[in-house]
Amino acid sequence: MTPIKSALISVYHKDNLEPIIKKLHDLGVVLYSTGGTEDFIRGLNIPVNAVEDLTDYPSILGGRVKTLHPKIFGGILGRREEDSDIAQLEEYAIPQIDLVIVDLYPFEETLASGASEQEIIEKIDIGGISLIRAAAKNFKDVMIIPGMEYYDILLDLLDGNDGSTSLSDRKQMAAEAFDISSHYDAAIYGYFMEGEESASLKVSESEFTSLRYGENPHQQGRFYGDLEEVFDQLHGKELSYNNLLDVDAAVQLMGEFHESDPTFVVMKHNNACGVATRKKLADAYRDALAGDPTSAFGGVLISNRKIDAETASAINKLFCEVVIAPGYDEEALELLKSKKNRIILVQIESEFPSITLRTALNGVLWQEKDGETDQKAGFEFVTNKKPTDAQLLDLEFASKICKHTKSNTIVLAKNNQLLASGTGQTSRVDALMQAIIKAKHFGFDLKDSVMASDAFFPFPDCVEIAGKEGVNAVIQPGGSIKDKLSIDYCNENGIAMVFTGTRHFKH
Ligand code: 5GP
Repeated sequence: MTPIKSALISVYHKDNLEPIIKKLHDLGVVLYSTGGTEDFIRGLNIPVNAVEDLTDYPSILGGRVKTLHPKIFGGILGRREEDSDIAQLEEYAIPQIDLVIVDLYPFEETLASGASEQEIIEKIDIGGISLIRAAAKNFKDVMIIPGMEYYDILLDLLDGNDGSTSLSDRKQMAAEAFDISSHYDAAIYGYFMEGEESASLKVSESEFTSLRYGENPHQQGRFYGDLEEVFDQLHGKELSYNNLLDVDAAVQLMGEFHESDPTFVVMKHNNACGVATRKKLADAYRDALAGDPTSAFGGVLISNRKIDAETASAINKLFCEVVIAPGYDEEALELLKSKKNRIILVQIESEFPSITLRTALNGVLWQEKDGETDQKAGFEFVTNKKPTDAQLLDLEFASKICKHTKSNTIVLAKNNQLLASGTGQTSRVDALMQAIIKAKHFGFDLKDSVMASDAFFPFPDCVEIAGKEGVNAVIQPGGSIKDKLSIDYCNENGIAMVFTGTRHFKH
């Protein structure tokens, strides 16, 4: 245990400080303090040393520089077990400081109050944050109380141990101190990045929502972030862990179609099992559902348009988990609310974080999101036959879906409708076979359809199988040493193929 013999106190809010000061005084602790805090302590008739007397400098620049001085920071950062540190403290007449109490300028409150830029900037605490970091760094010798919310802890410690603190108490408070300082700086960063904020991922340990459970009922689940910032939930139970993943996948995929004609997507387990773009939303829904009405059961539906009553009554015939749209007609909302599904209002063109995080082994993998959308302007035409305008549209359409589907994936599409996809397979041939079987099962004719692949074809087998089924246009990144074999097959069979140069793996 280390006794507290001296304390530096510099707090913005003076509330609840009185019992602390009285207690420190009773314990015979020597007090040092800054302007307003010093006045407060004097007002209690308790002796206190002004930091100005120690530094021989007044508080200058309107309070911007008060404690920033070697005579203050030396006394906090000096290592008590280092003879040379102690010798220097003595040489420069620097008193040791054993306890630092700081309550920072209220930056976030000032920001929230709608204050002017000048007022906000002045509320960026410089000296206080430095005091907190210095005292926390030297936790072996110094106790830090980094905010008024910790006064009770200090009082308990002082009461219990006759004015001494243990190393583990000091280390614990040092951790709290860096939590405070990092949160404070993150808020300042947020202010400076205003407008660009949406591109960053906001994950705060202290702001999480407990979910009913994780992926399965025996797993706990939480969400770190602020859902209210992203969408409004208009109806239904709280979103589950799996719902949130599907909503994320749905919104990301629909982001590709935010400028398209009315488009509907049915998501299931993070993959699209139905997508269609039509002139009318109800038609888009009907044709998206036709892609795989079996999988659509319990799926997540998303539209890029306000949902009308006709579409809503069609949706109501299906059991689905979540309906997502940028708006709902009054009648449509009433209809949808008659069911148990969750209803979410979301801006399709919202910007979401441009990075992804996931755990791997004992760490975290960080990556930029796949921000490349294949567009005809970037296509390389590699076969004798060039795609028609209609095929080009279908190739773009299929490629957008492919990019948002788990690898290995093959997407088959025709007339702005997903016919079927093979998702998350261990070979591209398996993905293609799955897509073909599914498409046929749901009554589609693959003649004149297009095929998109998330990665290049290492062999010509995929184009051969697809060609025999009637696929007559293909989009893929290209880049295999055996590209020529696929190109030759396409040329011999009147198939148009384009290379994009961009792989879209999604694991
Ligand atoms: P007081 O009311 O005691 O004059 O000021 C207390 C506030 O000043 C606390 O919020 C503390 O974090 C802050 N503070 C302490 N030293 C400095 C400094 O050198 N510069 C600035 N800008 N703020 C300081």
